Amino acid sequence: MTLRVRWLGRVPYREAHDLQKALFERSADDHLLLLEHPHVYTLGVRADMANVLVPPASVGAELCRTDRGGDVTYHGPGQLVGYPILTLPGKRGGSGMADTVAYVRSVEQLIIDALADIGVSANRLPDYPGVWIGERKVCAIGVKLTRGRSMHGFALNVEPDLTMFSHIVPCGIADKPVTSLRAEGCAATMKDVVDAISARAVERWGARSSERQDVAWQRGSAPTGLALGARKPDWVRAPLKLGEQALGLKHTMRDLELVTVCEEAGCPNLSECWSSGTATFMINGDRCTRACAFCLVDTRKPFPVSPDEPQRVAEAVVRMGLSHAVVTAVARDDMADGGAAGFAETVQAIRRRQPGCAVEVLIPDCKGDLESLTAIFDARPDVMNHNLETVARLQRLVRPSAGYARSLATLARAKAAGLVTKSGLILGMGETDDEVLGSLADLRAVGVDIVTLGQYLRPSADHLPVARWVEPATFTMLKEAGEAMGIPHVESSPLTRSSYHAREAAQAV
Ligand code: SF4
Repeated sequence: MTLRVRWLGRVPYREAHDLQKALFERSADDHLLLLEHPHVYTLGVRADMANVLVPPASVGAELCRTDRGGDVTYHGPGQLVGYPILTLPGKRGGSGMADTVAYVRSVEQLIIDALADIGVSANRLPDYPGVWIGERKVCAIGVKLTRGRSMHGFALNVEPDLTMFSHIVPCGIADKPVTSLRAEGCAATMKDVVDAISARAVERWGARSSERQDVAWQRGSAPTGLALGARKPDWVRAPLKLGEQALGLKHTMRDLELVTVCEEAGCPNLSECWSSGTATFMINGDRCTRACAFCLVDTRKPFPVSPDEPQRVAEAVVRMGLSHAVVTAVARDDMADGGAAGFAETVQAIRRRQPGCAVEVLIPDCKGDLESLTAIFDARPDVMNHNLETVARLQRLVRPSAGYARSLATLARAKAAGLVTKSGLILGMGETDDEVLGSLADLRAVGVDIVTLGQYLRPSADHLPVARWVEPATFTMLKEAGEAMGIPHVESSPLTRSSYHAREAAQAV
């Protein structure tokens, strides 16, 4: 059992909750998620609405009911929220009130020790849970312990807007003020506090083994990497030879005015895939509202989607005689549902025209909107793919409009909907092998069934430089490591792409 510590940056409450639930239910490891939430008031199972003094929306906050103990509390920027998801030693199978009290005490002590490490003297107050500085509350604690495994955790005020607490009776405690480290004169930054908490957590819960990954604290500058013209090793060279079948496929695409990611992204496997009669359809237009640093797709203002596109894709599937169709799309943040309806309609259209054909969708994150994602999940694709693309540290540099926690939450939600899930990473953009192993463990922890790992190829001088050519032996090592972690199928090679050998991978799980 490894303790996996993750600093995840700013994460909406509901997405963090769904990610927690997946780690709580599916992961064999222990986890400590450290993050901030946008403004939100959460209501625990014993919450009294009388303790919510104003309509949360009137102060720019969300209101969420949740399954932790306690009353109402506030979360927001400048507050460090920690979710330890642990299997408490010797408690698997049963945990009573005494265990919960003991566990809460252990979390309080961890906070008190970590604050001491940054020069702040904190204490407990008899009869009141949480951590205090004198009689002022600096950290709220609300946990859930089920069959010896924990969820939820603590909220430590580093430098939040304390006026947000005046709109509620925090934790139902009317006679005790709330404070923050900053209000107590402590200049420690969020990172200082995260470092102190992580060190104490590893000491307390990670004795056997632990690893930590952070999303970047600042958006770093592009790494230097290999020169644009650097000679490619043989193992990333793919012959571009369009035989008769491929040309026939090209004709079908043009005839039906369809777009493929194969062409738009300049995929090296185009000849092989098209010659074997498969291709990845790109719906919702060919212009993306994002600009990921590795992606060749056009980022000018998108056109409206064409309503008959799902039928045209289905027609192409029939003409190509596909048994496994892959449908992807650009991100359409300009659309209310992020383009979700296009996916649902395309899956249904293919099912109507080619009933025996498996349908795999490779979706954007729909900005974490659960209703939009559910519209896609309800179409019951055979494989639900959403790419993590890179490791936590490089997310801001590589895909600034997306997020590590958001992508894991998207995959966790798809798995909770009972779908076969898939994700992928592109290597050679500056990550280390250990970071890749950490991301594989995170994908396994949210129940992902298929993972693809491939080599990054720089599409133009405007895109990220290649940081390294990953050796084929490394791809093999990562495949074996991922499958040893329990990922049913890892497709890993220099030329692997999200939809490469998609049918075989789906059949393998
Ligand atoms: S969201 Fe997808 S299509 Fe858009 S730039 Fe990023 S990788 Fe490319």
